[in-house]
Amino acid sequence: MLTKGLVKEIERIVGKDHCLLSMEDRICYSYDATKQRYLPDIVVRPNTSEEISRIIKVANRDRIPVIPRGAGTGFVGGSLAVEGGISLVLTRMNRILEIDTENLIAVVEPGVITYRLQEEVERIGLFYPPDPSSLKISTLGGNAAMCSGGPRGVKYGVTKDYVLGLEVVLPTGEILNTGVRTMKGVVGYDLTKLIIGSEGTLGVITRIILKLIPLPESIRTLIAIFPQIDNASATVVDIIGCRIIPSTLEFMDQTTVCCVEDYLKMGLPTEAEALLLVEVDGDKVVVDRDIERVAAICHKGGASEIRIARDEKDREALWTARRAVSPALGRLNKIKINEDITVPRSKVPDIIKRVRDIGNRYNLTIANFGHAGDGNIHVNIMIDKDDSDEMERAEKVVKEIFRATLELGGTLSGEHGVGITKKPFIGEEVGLTGIEVMRRIKGVLDPNNIMNPGKIIPSS
Ligand SMILES: Cc1cc2nc3c(=O)[nH]c(=O)nc-3n(C[C@H](O)[C@H](O)[C@H](O)COP(=O)(O)OP(=O)(O)OC[C@H]3O[C@@H](n4cnc5c(N)ncnc54)[C@H](O)[C@@H]3O)c2cc1C
Repeated sequence: MLTKGLVKEIERIVGKDHCLLSMEDRICYSYDATKQRYLPDIVVRPNTSEEISRIIKVANRDRIPVIPRGAGTGFVGGSLAVEGGISLVLTRMNRILEIDTENLIAVVEPGVITYRLQEEVERIGLFYPPDPSSLKISTLGGNAAMCSGGPRGVKYGVTKDYVLGLEVVLPTGEILNTGVRTMKGVVGYDLTKLIIGSEGTLGVITRIILKLIPLPESIRTLIAIFPQIDNASATVVDIIGCRIIPSTLEFMDQTTVCCVEDYLKMGLPTEAEALLLVEVDGDKVVVDRDIERVAAICHKGGASEIRIARDEKDREALWTARRAVSPALGRLNKIKINEDITVPRSKVPDIIKRVRDIGNRYNLTIANFGHAGDGNIHVNIMIDKDDSDEMERAEKVVKEIFRATLELGGTLSGEHGVGITKKPFIGEEVGLTGIEVMRRIKGVLDPNNIMNPGKIIPSS
């Protein structure tokens, strides 16, 4: 229970202005992109690791849940206060502490917006590739806690591939430093990787050491339009099979394209069954050659039209459609059940076909889009708000899609994580032993289960 005495203690640590108790303020921190709502008892906005350590010590003493929160853009309910408690908002800790141009690393606080770091480093010819589509609002702390990926994952990997080390405030209030500032480092267990993707259940990330790489010299982009969806998904496999790793290989099906066209009226081909957005980057000569090769593969694969961007303005126009997918689907005013299943790349045609068949069998509209180049498909089941029958069918569809994904050797989430929405299903992927080991790790680090309780690990 959050007593008046505890509130006073927290106010003394962070200052009264940074403890929000009014209903209006708490509502602002009660939701994320799932649109589910859980009201925290208090919103606390610390400014330093030391403040966080002191807050957690008192919360641990009084057994109060602490829920770390960045920008609240998560898709699985990770930042929701499902058991009440303290919503610990990290956005004041938004300093880029260091950009080391000799060793190619950056040290940042968790509240730095992803895009801000990218802009800063690109200005001096460096590159931080992880690019969740939410990058203009999401925080690097949230990205690390979720191990976020994005369109560039196909070539450059995801957040964990760029995190060298962390400072973490543990659920006991101790401050742990993990990892290295070097390109190598094998001393002891890899605690950095343990924390990355742990969704705020093992501690609060308060500092991140990130690897940077040189900014690619050149980038070229094309859109290929496919009258038939099977040809589009087979082309995804063909491009990689030809030993080209694009920096982006995105897919949109007809339902998605129609929604975007309805939203933007930009002349997208609504009669086509699918569209691929492909980007290659690197050395200019190689990039110019590869974009032509990709165009030829798409053409051979059945594309009816290929548009290659000639300049940055053209490129922006091609990206507009892809970036508009989430708002375009959002404005349909339907409930959107959004899963981000991932299969081995070679199985993309199979999973697209199986999802379509499942949707048809249950007579539900499913919009598919996503990072096809790394096998990560965003499956969006669209259901009417007041239709309980559709909701029931959608639940069965989710189960069948998960089963199909695992049968094809895939994973239930490529980047959105588990949180509360996928918690009931994780046993199907990691097994009972997997869950038990996670439970033991959680118990050792967080004996009083105060750190983001109710997430990831099923209770029984
Ligand atoms: C339009 C849209 C597009 C998206 N596109 C992508 C995409 O392409 N790829 C992708 O991977 N995701 C995507 N997401 C999901 C989401 O943006 C990412 O998961 C993002 O990393 C969350 O960052 P955040 O700052 O909003 O974190 P929050 O949503 O606030 O928190 C997410 C989780 O991280 C924990 N957390 C946050 N900060 C910390 C911290 N400092 N220490 C410990 N735990 C912490 C929280 O407790 C919670 O469990 C998208 C979301 C939206 C709304």
